[in-house]
Amino acid sequence: MIIKKLLITGSSGYIGSCLNTYLKKRYKVYLLDLVKPKEFNKINLKNFFKCDLKNSKKLDKILQKIKPDLVIHLAAKSTVNEKIKKKNYISNNLVATRNLVNSMNRHNINKIIFSSTAAVYDKNKKRINENFKLRPISNYGKSKLQAEETIMKNNRLNYVILRFFNVSGCLKKPMIGEFHNPETHLIPISVFKSIKENDINIFGDDYKTKDGTCVRDYVHIKDICIAIEKSKNYLKKNRSTILNIGGGHGVSNKSVIKNLEKILNKNVRVNYLKKRKGDQAVLVCNITKAKNLINWRPKNSRIFNILKDEIMWSQFLIKQKINRKYSSVQK
Ligand code: UDP
Repeated sequence: MIIKKLLITGSSGYIGSCLNTYLKKRYKVYLLDLVKPKEFNKINLKNFFKCDLKNSKKLDKILQKIKPDLVIHLAAKSTVNEKIKKKNYISNNLVATRNLVNSMNRHNINKIIFSSTAAVYDKNKKRINENFKLRPISNYGKSKLQAEETIMKNNRLNYVILRFFNVSGCLKKPMIGEFHNPETHLIPISVFKSIKENDINIFGDDYKTKDGTCVRDYVHIKDICIAIEKSKNYLKKNRSTILNIGGGHGVSNKSVIKNLEKILNKNVRVNYLKKRKGDQAVLVCNITKAKNLINWRPKNSRIFNILKDEIMWSQFLIKQKINRKYSSVQK
């Protein structure tokens, strides 16, 4: 089956806007989001639908009109900020997914790629593979796992569920990258602050890891886009699967700072604060399954490369006079 017409939900977000840029020359891409895309993300508004996935009627009309061959479902509330009420996560992530799946059923659209998360897994210091125990700690992780189950239970769908680890970096032609408001992630915050000569806060240096700081698995946004396109090819043969998508190796918070200092050729000031509530010490994945099933490799995901690109993106935002707000939101 030829898959040419794609619908991206959550298209105004970080992954969505990069993915649209990456795919739009080769596919007919339709975009759907609660909010319009950011001003630096120039899109053809003819292909954009402003819609809340919880509004079934409106969603039905849109699917009826465009009849996509595949839905790439990225829409979600994503900060792991527990101050956001459980109900909010459940309604945005689970109810929205249920509605989308039901509407897809009504319109005989049976292929979906779903962006899930490392936050569905139980604590583990080993490289996590897809069969590891699932026990999300955060409400965000819980709602994503329930959304996964909704998709898997639906026997009219073929799916690829991608469990993303720490997505970072930007696309360069044209420039498009991460822009949360406020920003809470380590890579954009540390890059932006070090360019602006501000202190960087690191949460915890007494973890039981090699250098005492948390270890994460960073994956470049370009590798994410490639993984999604390869998942689309996998779906051509009406198969379903779940895949971890990460760089496949761990990088400590201290090592992020060291690499940043090397690239910028200057010392950056770091404050070590107390641990952030809800943070796991180590979160690193095994990517053998993605390598074998969709022939994907995280070719752009070395931390040096990710940071270099993030620096370019931060400088682009500064040049455009777009200010980045960040908060040291506790989980
Ligand atoms: N982190 C930090 N300072 C910050 C933001 C994050 O030390 O300003 C740490 C955070 O505690 C974690 C790691 O960086 O150990 C990655 O956090 P991030 O929020 O980027 O991603 P997460 O793994 O939580 O999804």
